[in-house]
Amino acid sequence: MNNIAVFPGSFDPLTRGHEAIVIRALSLFDQIVVAIGDNPDKRCFFPLEKRLNWLKEVFSAYPGVKADTYSGLTVEYCKSIGARYIIRGLRTSADFDFEQCITQINKQLQPDIETVFLLSASEHTPLTSSIVRDIIRNGGDPAPFIPIGLRLQ
Ligand code: ADP
Repeated sequence: MNNIAVFPGSFDPLTRGHEAIVIRALSLFDQIVVAIGDNPDKRCFFPLEKRLNWLKEVFSAYPGVKADTYSGLTVEYCKSIGARYIIRGLRTSADFDFEQCITQINKQLQPDIETVFLLSASEHTPLTSSIVRDIIRNGGDPAPFIPIGLRLQ
């Protein structure tokens, strides 16, 4: 198994945008590890365990997808599991500006690891986890924006 890719993120919560990127990336890689970075400086809305369980549930039908958590540098995590690729989704030029710095620094830290970008599907461009959190906080229904059948509460 050579082509292992890590799709890192907070997934706070997992959205249809994330799900679509993983499914599309399956045609490029042998295995995708959707990995939640456990960053103590970032306060998340949903607990880590819930976010991990949603990943496991949503991708259980895909043998090429695994869910995991990690702490520390993403490139170190990639190395520890033998992954040579990082997948990131791009919605807008703001995403690009943010990702460009991280990707170039990651390249200096770990030259063997390539970051691969997938442009979001047009229907997912406005979709962010933070909008889904706002909908939930304000008593709205997040169902159209999260994977079909997933229950967040
Ligand atoms: P992070 O905290 O690393 O930004 P996120 O969970 O917000 O984590 O996002 C993880 C990855 O998924 C990032 O590469 C982000 O750009 C991408 N992503 C988030 N939402 C979408 C979407 N609607 N369409 C495509 N990619 C997305």
